[in-house]
Amino acid sequence: MLNLYSENNHEIVLFHDFGTEAMVQANQVVIINNGEAMLLDPGGHKVYAPLFAELSSMVKPNGLKHIFFSHQDPDIIAAANGWLMVTEANAYLPSLWTRFITHFGVDKFAVHRILPIPDEGQTIKVGEVDLKVIPAHFLHSAGNFHVYDPVSKTLFSGDMGASLGMPYMEVQDFDAHIQYMEGFHKRYMASNRAIRIWIKTIEKLDIENIVPQHGAIMKGRENSRKFLNWIASLQCGTDIMPDSWDIPE
Ligand code: FE
Repeated sequence: MLNLYSENNHEIVLFHDFGTEAMVQANQVVIINNGEAMLLDPGGHKVYAPLFAELSSMVKPNGLKHIFFSHQDPDIIAAANGWLMVTEANAYLPSLWTRFITHFGVDKFAVHRILPIPDEGQTIKVGEVDLKVIPAHFLHSAGNFHVYDPVSKTLFSGDMGASLGMPYMEVQDFDAHIQYMEGFHKRYMASNRAIRIWIKTIEKLDIENIVPQHGAIMKGRENSRKFLNWIASLQCGTDIMPDSWDIPE
């Protein structure tokens, strides 16, 4: 557990070790403003019980008002029904995916609380703060959003900036960190054009920290800037696919 921010009734906590060996490591984040909480990308069934227990000690019953799902992957959404059953929270999911995730099993009296996020994004009011839901389509999911918190100036960047396999949770030396991100971004991200659209969009924000859904966080303007510089020129996805694949023999 990492305390990312705590000032003036605004608190952000990141959980990173609720998974098991076989699972891709995933971060879950809770943002609490004036007693009202939003949970970001809460993960699957194994994560659900310990995360719920931790949250109960941080917010009052019914203090969890919002659940944000950046995209449709199981490490984000698999426990959606459980969360909707034990809370009165609304959940927000890219509109592209609302009719797909119900295949995980969402009970009919909870399904109306999964609200579709339109392609252009929206704001979600948590306590006194308007969190910005920023389009990040095709990075990697076709319908995909990030959350920007204007109080801590943090971008919660989902799979962008994800890293796997390093022994630390906060990036110190960015150049030495690239090896833990490169393979993931080259294969999971759709194209450099998608990255450029995203960078042009988030340049309108004042970003101090970048907090991905997997691996180490990038704290401070210097490492955040270094990450954006690196990713801006990355060739990935369809940029580096072969012209055709051989038919398997
Ligand atoms: Fe994903």
